[in-house]
Amino acid sequence: MPKKTVLITGGAGFIGSHLSQKLLNCGYSVICLDNFITGSLDNIRPFLKDKNFRLDVCNVANRIDIAGKIDYILHCASLASPKDYLNFPIQTLKVGSLGTHNALGLAKKKKAVFLLFSTSEVYGDPFVHPQKENYWGNVNPVGLRGCYDESKRFAEAITMAYHRVHKLDTKIARIFNTYGPRMRHNDGRVVPNFIDQALKGKPLTVYGRGKQTRSFCYIDDLVEGLFCLMRSKENRPVNLGNPGEFTVIRLARLVLKLTASKSKIVFKELPQDDPRQRQPDISRARKSLGWKPFVSLEDGLKSTISWFKG
Ligand code: UDP
Repeated sequence: MPKKTVLITGGAGFIGSHLSQKLLNCGYSVICLDNFITGSLDNIRPFLKDKNFRLDVCNVANRIDIAGKIDYILHCASLASPKDYLNFPIQTLKVGSLGTHNALGLAKKKKAVFLLFSTSEVYGDPFVHPQKENYWGNVNPVGLRGCYDESKRFAEAITMAYHRVHKLDTKIARIFNTYGPRMRHNDGRVVPNFIDQALKGKPLTVYGRGKQTRSFCYIDDLVEGLFCLMRSKENRPVNLGNPGEFTVIRLARLVLKLTASKSKIVFKELPQDDPRQRQPDISRARKSLGWKPFVSLEDGLKSTISWFKG
C-alpha cells in the first residue's frame, strides 16, 4: 500500500518536530512547512536525510500550493509562547486566521483530513473548572493575549465552517500546557524558564505570588493524543492535556529539587490577563480516542532537565 502523506505546518517547532518523528516512525511520509520564526532546523536535522521527509520553507499565512497527494493536513504553525506572541502579535493573528484559511483551502483541494492545533487559551481566564469542551470561555479580545486567543477562536470557527459547508473531515485539538525536550532555552514559558534558570544558578522568576495553576502534559503523551485524534472519527473539539494541576510556586520548588539547584525564587509582576487556573477535563479524549496521559510531572521534568543539560 502506498504511504500516507501528512503535511504539517510548523513542523520544525517543538510539538511539530516530535509529531513528525512519530509519523516517520509509523511509516508516514511527511511534508514539513515552516518559516522558522520560532521553529528550528536543529529540531528536524535528523529527518532531513530521510527520503520520507521533505522541508518546504514558507509562511503559511501566504498562499500554500503543494503538488501531489496529501492525506492529512496538520495545522500546527503558531507562535505559542506568550513571550513570542506578545513580540509578534500581527504574525500570530495572521498564522491563526489567514494561515488556517490557507491550510483549510489546501485540505479541501486535496480532500485531506484536517487537524487544527488549538489551545486551552480559547477558555481564557476560565469561570468553569476544570474546563470541558462545552465551556465557551472568558477571553479579553483587546488584551495583550487577545492576538493569540482570538486567532485560535477564529481558527476553530473557520474549521467548523469548512466542516459544515464543505463536509471536510476536520479535527480540533485544544492543547493544554505541554513541555519537554526541544523547547528553546529562551522560550519564555514557565517550564523552560525555570529549568534554564535553575541550571544556571539564576533566580527563578515566579510571576504574581505563584498561586495560579497550570496542568502540564509531557510531550510524548501529547503526541500520542494528537496521533489518535488525527485518525479518529471525532469532529468536535477535544481537550488534550494532563489533568494533574499544580500551582506555579509548586512547580518552581519541584524544579529546584530535581535540579538540586541553589537558585532563589523571586516574585515578578503577574502578566496582564494571566489565567488564574487551568485544568483540562479529558473525559471526551478518554471516551472518544481511548487516550490518557501517563507521564507524571516529576518524570517528565527529569527527562526535560537532562535534555536541557545536554
Ligand atoms: N510564569 C512564571 N514565571 C515565568 C514564566 C511563566 O511564573 O518565568 C507563569 C505565568 O505567569 C503563568 C504560568 O507560569 O501563570 C504559565 O505560563 P506560560 O508562559 O508557560 O504559559 P501560559 O499557560 O500562561 O500560556
